[in-house]
Amino acid sequence: MAIIGGGPAGLAAAEQLCEVADIHLFEAMPSLGRKFLLAGKSGLNITHGEAFERFLTRFGTARAQLEPALTRFPPEAIRNWATSLGIETFIGSSGRVFPTAMKASPLLRAWARRLTEKGVTFYTRHRWTGWTGEGALRFDTLEGNVTFCANATVLALGGASWPRLGADGAWTGLLAERGINIAPFRPANCGFDVGWSAHMKERFAGVPVKSVTLSFEGESARGDFVISSHGIEGSLIYAFSAALRDVLERDGKATPELDLAPDRDLARLESTLAATRGRASLANHLRKKAGIDGVKAALLRELAPAEVFNDPLELAHAIKHLTLPLIRPRPIDEAISVTGGIALDEIDENWMLKKLPGIFVAGEMTDWEAPTGSYLITAFLATGRAAGDGAASWLRRS
Ligand SMILES: Cc1cc2nc3c(=O)[nH]c(=O)nc-3n(C[C@H](O)[C@H](O)[C@H](O)COP(=O)(O)OP(=O)(O)OC[C@H]3O[C@@H](n4cnc5c(N)ncnc54)[C@H](O)[C@@H]3O)c2cc1C
Repeated sequence: MAIIGGGPAGLAAAEQLCEVADIHLFEAMPSLGRKFLLAGKSGLNITHGEAFERFLTRFGTARAQLEPALTRFPPEAIRNWATSLGIETFIGSSGRVFPTAMKASPLLRAWARRLTEKGVTFYTRHRWTGWTGEGALRFDTLEGNVTFCANATVLALGGASWPRLGADGAWTGLLAERGINIAPFRPANCGFDVGWSAHMKERFAGVPVKSVTLSFEGESARGDFVISSHGIEGSLIYAFSAALRDVLERDGKATPELDLAPDRDLARLESTLAATRGRASLANHLRKKAGIDGVKAALLRELAPAEVFNDPLELAHAIKHLTLPLIRPRPIDEAISVTGGIALDEIDENWMLKKLPGIFVAGEMTDWEAPTGSYLITAFLATGRAAGDGAASWLRRS
C-alpha cells in the first residue's frame, strides 16, 4: 500500500491503514509536514470548539461531500487524538483550538514516531512522477528513478500555495492525463493588493489595524488585519477573501468598506467632530473626539477624498464607511490555502477516484475551500482518514 505526500492528510491516511496493510509513505521533500510546521508558527489552529452543525456550514457547497468524513472525525475526536499523542489542547477565546505549546513540531514528531512504531516505512526525497506502462508508481530520487508496485495508493499531494514547502501542484498534469477533471488552482485565505502611496508603504507596512469592522456584499465582521507593503492581509481579510477574490475576478474591482470606529455611532461621531476644536490640530481633534490616530488616521488620509477633512459630517461618514479599493488577490504562492484541484464529482464516497479504481485522494488537492482558522486542518485530517478507511475496505475486498 502506497501513500504519497507526507502532510497531515497523508499521515492521517497512514494512521488508518497501518493496522491492515504494510504502508510505504513517499514524500518529495527531505522531511515530512513542512507546511504543517509553518502553520504551527502562527500557533497551529488545529480545530474549532463551535457547535458541530455551525462548523459544518463553513464548508459551503462542499459540505455534502465532506460531512461523512467530518462526522467520523469531528473536532472533539481531533482533540482526543492530539491527547493520545501527548499533546494537550485548549480552546481560545474565539473558540479556536490550539495545542498548549502553540506549535506543530512536538505533535508532528510524536505522530511520525507512532506511525514508525506501527510499521509505516517513510521514504523522503521521493518525488512521484506518475506510473510506468505496467502501472507501477514511479519516483525521482537522489539515486535516480525507482518504481514501486502498490495494491492501492492514497495521493495526498497538497495544493499549490507555498510551493517551496513541497506542495507545488505539479501532480495536476499526471492526473489530467488520466482523464481526471481538475479545477485550476486559485488563492484562498489570501491577502490583496492595494495601490498604497509610498508614504503608506514605508511608514505602515507590517502595522496591525485593530478592532475595525469590514463589510462586503451584505456581510460584516469585526477583527484585525495588517497593512503589508502590497496591500492588506490577516485574519479579518482572510474571512472575506473568497468573496473578494470572486468579485475581483468577475468585475475587475472590489471595494469593501471599513468602519474605523465601530464602537461609535455615526450621529455621535458627527456631533463630537462638529464641536469646535479651537487651536487643536485636526490630527489631535480626530484622536480625542473619534479615537482615530496612528495607522487608522493614515488609512483615512490615504483613502478618503481630501475635501472630507473640511466638513465634520463628511469626515464622520468617511470614518464609518471608508472604501478600500482592492486591485487583485496576492499570488497563490503566498496564500494560506487554495481552492481548485480534483473536482469533487470525480471522487466516490470512499474518496476513491471513480475513473482510477484503487487510487484514493485526500486533503488540499481536492476542490473545496473553507476559511482558515481550524477548518482546513480538521478537514484534511478527516479526509485523510476517510481515504485510509476507503483504501482499507478496497484492500479487504480485493
Ligand atoms: C502560513 C500558513 C499557516 C497556516 N495555518 C493554518 C492553521 O492554523 N490552521 C489550519 O487549519 N490550516 C492552516 N494552514 C493550512 C494547512 O497547513 C495546509 O493547508 C495543510 O498542510 C494541507 O495539508 P495536506 O496534507 O493536504 O497538504 P500538504 O501539507 O501540503 O502536504 C502535501 C505533501 O505532499 C508532498 N508532495 C507534493 N507533491 C509530491 C510528489 N509529486 N511526490 C511526493 N510528494 C509530494 C509535499 O511535499 C507535501 O509534504 C496554514 C498554511 C500556511 C501556508
